[in-house]
Amino acid sequence: MSLPKTMKAIQIEKTGGPEVLQLSEVSSPTPSADKIIIKVEWAGVNYIDTYKRAGVYTLPLPLVLGEEFSGTIAALPTSDSVLKSEQYALRGFQVGDRVAGTASGSFAEYVAAPWDKCWKLPPHVATETGALSVLQGLTALTMIRETYPVKRGDYVLVHAAAGGVGLLLCQACSYLGAHVIGTVSTPAKAELAKQNGAEDVIISKEQNVTEEVKKLTGGQGCHVIFDGIGKDTWEDDFEMIRRKGTIITYGNASGVVPPFAPLKLAGKNVKVARPTLTNYIATPEESAEYFEWLFQLIDKGVLKFHVHEKYPFTADGLRKAQTDITSRGTTGKLVIQVA
Ligand code: NDP
Repeated sequence: MSLPKTMKAIQIEKTGGPEVLQLSEVSSPTPSADKIIIKVEWAGVNYIDTYKRAGVYTLPLPLVLGEEFSGTIAALPTSDSVLKSEQYALRGFQVGDRVAGTASGSFAEYVAAPWDKCWKLPPHVATETGALSVLQGLTALTMIRETYPVKRGDYVLVHAAAGGVGLLLCQACSYLGAHVIGTVSTPAKAELAKQNGAEDVIISKEQNVTEEVKKLTGGQGCHVIFDGIGKDTWEDDFEMIRRKGTIITYGNASGVVPPFAPLKLAGKNVKVARPTLTNYIATPEESAEYFEWLFQLIDKGVLKFHVHEKYPFTADGLRKAQTDITSRGTTGKLVIQVA
């Protein structure tokens, strides 16, 4: 497959509001030692894109945004040591294969992705599903296996239970036999979280969340709390966690969690974890383990993807998607149709 010299991509030259997003003509990626070049068809929208655009995470500019993709392979890595490695052989990549994966710069016609962050889509999985599933799906699966191994009978609190990661956590934790309690802001979101495995859902704008959690857990609190909201829910998490429980603070939708003294944990011997997906899938073996599990669970119908909206590949399309996701009005997954 021949690669054009330039391509369209959505990038920022400065940080700020959604208005800084621009559709620009930039250089296309060229074949390199350890990257696969993908002709992007779909690119998932994630909260992290808004942190990068707003400057919550500081990165060199100009920057093409987007963290996950699905599409077809346009070029393979050039390094012999990569091509001959056991893990590369396991994935069996060929030009033209349909793949999905994680890579920075996916709001573009082509993206260069580290080969071990790509996975061939099984024949029965639509190309679109790849971009709906990878980043949020792998995040949910790494957390429930490694940050806190969720067990049958656990009380699990999922904040933003109708969101992208939230719905997948509800599905996966209920599949593992946990009692899933969700928090959401509206009755419509509560209904959706229930349809996706939450046993009980608390509407944060109408109910006292900490009181409800205490009632639902017989006063004990939850074994684990999955918190992607951050600043606004952090203090209450310590009320809702049970003795020896684990608070997983994995995102900053309402703002970054402030620094705290370790002595804060002593009240209930609480563990706090602040994981990122990247550090759980750093090696080819680790990423293979989770990609395999992700597509097994999709195959079994355990993980299903609720699409909030498909947006066009334009600056206005991504501006709208980012405005929507930060306005608390979305459920499930937002995706950009690139080709
Ligand atoms: P969501 O679809 O969950 O959207 C965010 C949700 O957070 C909103 O819908 C809203 O749900 C809730 N929320 C509560 N308070 C606020 C607020 N003040 N402003 C905005 N939203 C608020 O997004 P994602 O699924 O894409 O991401 C969820 C979290 O997971 C994010 O924090 C993200 O950064 C994090 N993440 C972390 C990863 C990691 O590796 N650590 C990887 C992937 C995602 P409601 O209105 O129902 O409360």
